[in-house]
Amino acid sequence: MGSVQQQTGHSCAGRGTRVRLMRSLVLIGHGSHLNGESAAAVYRYAEMIRARGLYDEVVEGYWKEEPSLRQVLKTTASTDVTVIPMFISEGYFTETVIPREMGLGHQGPVPPEGVARVLGGRTVRYTLPYGVHPSMSDVILARAHEALPDSSPEDTALIVLGHGTTRNENSNKIVYQNAEVLRQSGQFASVHALFLDEDPKVGTWPEMVKAPRVVVVPFFASEGWHTLETIPEDMGLEGAVTTFVDNPNGQQTVYYAKPVGTHSAVADVILHLAEEAAGSSTSDGDTERVHDAAWNAFMDRARQGLRFGEVLVQPESGMFELRHALDEGKPGHELQTLVTPEGVRDFTRRDEGGHHRPVHTLRNMPRGWRAVMGQADLVRAVQYLYPAVIEETYAQSCHTLRPTPWATTARRQTGIYAKVQKATPEQLEEVAADVCGGCLRTRLWAGEKLPQTFFDGVPGAIPCAEACTFLVAEVREEVAGKRGGGASHSH
Ligand code: SF4
Repeated sequence: MGSVQQQTGHSCAGRGTRVRLMRSLVLIGHGSHLNGESAAAVYRYAEMIRARGLYDEVVEGYWKEEPSLRQVLKTTASTDVTVIPMFISEGYFTETVIPREMGLGHQGPVPPEGVARVLGGRTVRYTLPYGVHPSMSDVILARAHEALPDSSPEDTALIVLGHGTTRNENSNKIVYQNAEVLRQSGQFASVHALFLDEDPKVGTWPEMVKAPRVVVVPFFASEGWHTLETIPEDMGLEGAVTTFVDNPNGQQTVYYAKPVGTHSAVADVILHLAEEAAGSSTSDGDTERVHDAAWNAFMDRARQGLRFGEVLVQPESGMFELRHALDEGKPGHELQTLVTPEGVRDFTRRDEGGHHRPVHTLRNMPRGWRAVMGQADLVRAVQYLYPAVIEETYAQSCHTLRPTPWATTARRQTGIYAKVQKATPEQLEEVAADVCGGCLRTRLWAGEKLPQTFFDGVPGAIPCAEACTFLVAEVREEVAGKRGGGASHSH
């Protein structure tokens, strides 16, 4: 396999040379354009699994943050990729959005063994969401025991509480299945599946449950509005433990557990899923050559000192220093020193006004920090600062980045975003001028040209191959007549 020497001075890699065996695990979350905490659970599980060292890398990808579902496969370093949707139940995202956006060529229910595809030289395995794995009944049990350590089959009932919805029949199935497994275990006097949004509703519990002690475990992905407000309100709870003196079945005490999705044992469930997806396959992947070449090219530049986007990286006694380019020359003691890639991620997640930054290439990276780190941490910090930027910019410099025109992006949208197909060219241009005007990226998808990149010494030259979900959401608002204007704070 040959390599092509570009005018940029780096080698543009082909594919296929075996370097060493590798495996990548990708966790997919929903993310949010609005709320910086939405991605936190995925970060946490990625960190826990990374610490166990079972995979060469653990990568995160999101529907509404970066790296996006469209980009995330490009960011994996190996040709063996297992993708786990970090969702509590099957539904629209796991069956429609994620496979479509990742280009898996699959739509609809995912079979128990998952879906395997070869995409651009990578073997990609896509699994069911973690919430439907049979071992989630252990997580429910662990939550129940935390809330009531001395629960007993004589006097304790268990309520597994799901969201339920009239739109997807699968979302309640898993709650019923877990309730049945736990009923069969004989560890509770009775086990009930109740729901917020469908029958049997959670508010009916005093008529249904006879035991004097009741443990309630929310089958929810995270702590939030439902677990903190809706459920306590519907059940009449006053905290972790609430005693009701005159229920139809007499005095009853309810022990309210934390949601299953935030339990650390979910990391084991994720690893089970990943192992099962690999099945009997014993061969791991290789280093992905194009990815490897992109990061080698980046490191070559970093060793000489490089400005890319709003970031400056400079070699410093065998290490590398990262800082905001506008803080160049500032004495170190005037800047906050960050020591880990996660520290860099957390500092730069919000702009200086405290607003969440779902698009990292918007020109609103906060100033006032520096990080000094070795090569491996530098790579991870840059992946957090500018997800997929090194890979896409390298591809652009090698003339292999293929833009996706707006019409194609719009046609692909479903659900509430299908509306963007109705956007006129004027509406699109107005929104793009506003949103993309604040972004470092150059819109190749709209026909703009980018002859040079930061690999050639032009710091702000970063390609945009495809409209991001932030822009799509803004176009939808425009079409719906709800857009107030102003890119960075309207989400
Ligand atoms: Fe930036 Fe616009 Fe591209 Fe989004 S669509 S990444 S805002 S240039």
